[in-house]
Amino acid sequence: MLKSLDLRPFRGTALLGALPRPSIGTADPTGSVREILSRVKNEGDSALYDLTKRFDNVTLDHLQVGKDEMEAAFGRIDNALREALLAAKYSVVRVHEEELKLLAEHELIDNFGMRITYKTQPVDRAGCYVPGGVARYPSSVIMTASIAKVAGVREVVLCVPPQPDGTVDDATLAAAHICEVDYVFSIGGAQAIGAMAYGTESVPKVDVIVGPGNVYVSIAKREVSQVVGVPSSFAGPSEVVVVADESVPPKWSALDIAVQAEHGPNGLAWFITWNEEYAKAVEEELESYLDEASRKDHIASTLSTQGYSALVRNRDQAIEVANLIAPEHLELLYHDAGQDLDKVTNAGAVFVGPYGTAAYGDYVAGPSHVLPTYSTARFASVLGVSDFRKRMHFIEVTRDAVDQISWAAEEIAGAEGLEAHSDSIRVRRSEGELDEA
Ligand code: NAD
Repeated sequence: MLKSLDLRPFRGTALLGALPRPSIGTADPTGSVREILSRVKNEGDSALYDLTKRFDNVTLDHLQVGKDEMEAAFGRIDNALREALLAAKYSVVRVHEEELKLLAEHELIDNFGMRITYKTQPVDRAGCYVPGGVARYPSSVIMTASIAKVAGVREVVLCVPPQPDGTVDDATLAAAHICEVDYVFSIGGAQAIGAMAYGTESVPKVDVIVGPGNVYVSIAKREVSQVVGVPSSFAGPSEVVVVADESVPPKWSALDIAVQAEHGPNGLAWFITWNEEYAKAVEEELESYLDEASRKDHIASTLSTQGYSALVRNRDQAIEVANLIAPEHLELLYHDAGQDLDKVTNAGAVFVGPYGTAAYGDYVAGPSHVLPTYSTARFASVLGVSDFRKRMHFIEVTRDAVDQISWAAEEIAGAEGLEAHSDSIRVRRSEGELDEA
């Protein structure tokens, strides 16, 4: 099922060359995504109805789901699920309230008499995309909308594909109620991203768009990034790299390989070990799990296209390979994995120790499960409060600064030939002190 790779002989750049390239599927759908976006931009709501009929096979008679429907769904779901969603939100809010403290306003420095203060402000309106083609993700509501609210965003708009009967499932609506989402629309795919980016008669235009999705959604976000803020991560089909050895039961490793593949096609799953016998045991466990798995087809489709079992020399080489892959989820399941954390440089989230299945991160650990995929963990990060806030500096120029540093600014303005720049500084330097009002 997994393609076997023996990476033990490879070092340095040869190792990079020996790794298969990640793929987002057979055909690049950028052209059709651009067409969808242009229709939404030009035709508004009527394009949304039409595209929903075409791609979701659903005829909608309205796009918006009311707040009363969210509240009713919250009342309808099982008690246990209600408590679980509340626990997940509690955990996510706690983590992000701490993260928000890191962004607190503070005076940075007194620079030649100029007082520089750092401050962040929330965007006014955020759009959260919650996927819903192959599976339902009430967890993605919590992992996006509750973080926007902690960040101080005034209004949160949420788009989710309709179910075949045109409704949105109760668990997703209940999660939206818990997170105090302001607007929910039953629209999916690239058309939902276009609606939030450009605004339509029904859907308010937002300032940033976040959330995971399939290739159409992820490419649409990249395409609209000129008019709306989009995190630099590509939160696409799920990925995992599991690093383990005989210190962990092979069944645990096998299940963790299957977990992220269960989401749907185009995902990526790597298993890395330095123990050949253990690799065989994991493969056997994976095959016997697949015999019974309810989502066997999805798991098999990801594992047969982008599923790998790699043999390496030792744990150092395992982490070197993981850093080159830069996966969304990295699991270091082996004994004493905590010793290796400083060596990990590229991963969306790292799960440490034998109990660390990424599924905890998907639901209850607290950091968002919206993570960089497709190697974007080389430069991008997990979704967090900073994705909903803008940094700005307040620069207070004192009379003392005018005396101290005007000469340098005037000199550079002169070199650039920008006369008004140097004049604006020179009048302040030469015309003396103003009376304090
Ligand atoms: P989705 O909501 O992302 O996509 C469904 C939409 O795709 C449909 O509403 C439809 O409008 C559109 N679509 C389908 N076929 C199309 C076509 N041929 N042309 C144009 N548009 C088309 O739901 P999904 O498909 O289930 O994908 C969800 C993805 O999100 C999975 O890949 C999963 O792994 C990923 N995910 C990622 C994270 C993360 O943090 N990275 C978290 C959860 C889920």
